[in-house]
Amino acid sequence: MIRVNENYLKLKASYLFVDIAKRVAAFTAAHPEKKVIRMGIGDVTRPLPPVCIKALHEAADEMAAEATFKGYGPEAGYEFLREAIAENDYRARGCQIGADEIFVSDGAKCDTANIQELFAGDIKIAVPDPVYPVYVDTNVMAGRTGENVGGRYQGFIYLNSTAENNFIPELPKEKVDLIYLCFPNNPTGAAITKAELKKWVDYAKENKSLILYDAAYEAFIRDESLPRSIYEIDGADEVAIEFRSFSKTAGFTGTRCAFTVVPKKVKAYTSSGEAVALNPLWNRRQSTKFNGVSYPIQKAAAAVYTAEGKAQVKALIDFYLENAKIIREKMTSLGFACTGGENSPYIWVRTGCESWSFFDKLLNEAAVVTTPGSGFGSCGEGFIRISAFNSRENVIEAMNRISSVLGN
Ligand code: PLP
Repeated sequence: MIRVNENYLKLKASYLFVDIAKRVAAFTAAHPEKKVIRMGIGDVTRPLPPVCIKALHEAADEMAAEATFKGYGPEAGYEFLREAIAENDYRARGCQIGADEIFVSDGAKCDTANIQELFAGDIKIAVPDPVYPVYVDTNVMAGRTGENVGGRYQGFIYLNSTAENNFIPELPKEKVDLIYLCFPNNPTGAAITKAELKKWVDYAKENKSLILYDAAYEAFIRDESLPRSIYEIDGADEVAIEFRSFSKTAGFTGTRCAFTVVPKKVKAYTSSGEAVALNPLWNRRQSTKFNGVSYPIQKAAAAVYTAEGKAQVKALIDFYLENAKIIREKMTSLGFACTGGENSPYIWVRTGCESWSFFDKLLNEAAVVTTPGSGFGSCGEGFIRISAFNSRENVIEAMNRISSVLGN
């Protein structure tokens, strides 16, 4: 008899986007004449930078000629891309990361999901609340938690991100082995300072824990004093793995390219306390289960690091950041406390009522779709997330409509 992995049955169905879709469909059916503006999406809306498109076309032509055709590539990525990442994203910022510590992949989603395979089944895990759900669900699937009771899985240590702590969670009181952090944060938009991040690195060193640092939104950081990488903190290359993505940086959500940094100094321990380097383990995992990102896509990603590419990516992010500023300023002027929207594409708005009631009000009275914060965890109750990934025209119109509904 084939038996099922019963851990999957513990997963709480994610009703968030299904519920949103249902409510939007009901509204559209009742008001077919109204144009709905979707401000809830976490997907980018602008096309790929021209420099990436050019590289993509050229690489496609290479695949058409026998002399330049490429079959399987290196599982961890082509050297030209790994070297460009190490140089531009790390060494240029004073972080001593080598190309052989970079693993190119087809997404930060799968990397943040797959990395937990390297760790024992009975470790203690700390996850943020609210949270990008992948960190939680993948550990549930692996059997590292108990049942979901009242919206929280037994066995996790939840790191509450609330207005009281400016959405930067406090260190856990107990010893934990694995810590998920995400900055700039999805969904709260909060960014962490070097001093705050140093506390986590120090904690990890003291407790022999490991930090999984999701920096998928790093490109939105404009405040030069904020860390773009955890490796800007001394000693982090001993206790942290970092995830990055071209998805939000350069519009690769549909094209798929990302990377994970596993420094050679990062270790995990056997039950007898022997240290094991994670870099060769991740390399083994990837070369066994993954066959690399396609050559044209890696060429397109490498184009991001040319002078032209850097300028085009900056313009792309500037566009979304201007949207974010418009949203943040409008919501603030209407009297709502907001976080994010600076150094982040997300604006986390304190609603003063239940997330879903606020969502319904904006949908029914302004025909604007947002994301209810409660869908990201219990600490998200009382908030909504507004996304800056949209056209300028839609952002302005959505804010005008919200203003007339919520303004005095
Ligand atoms: N990490 C965070 C925090 C995200 O919000 C997202 C996407 O929304 C991802 C990772 C996924 O990135 P990718 O498109 O590279 O899989």
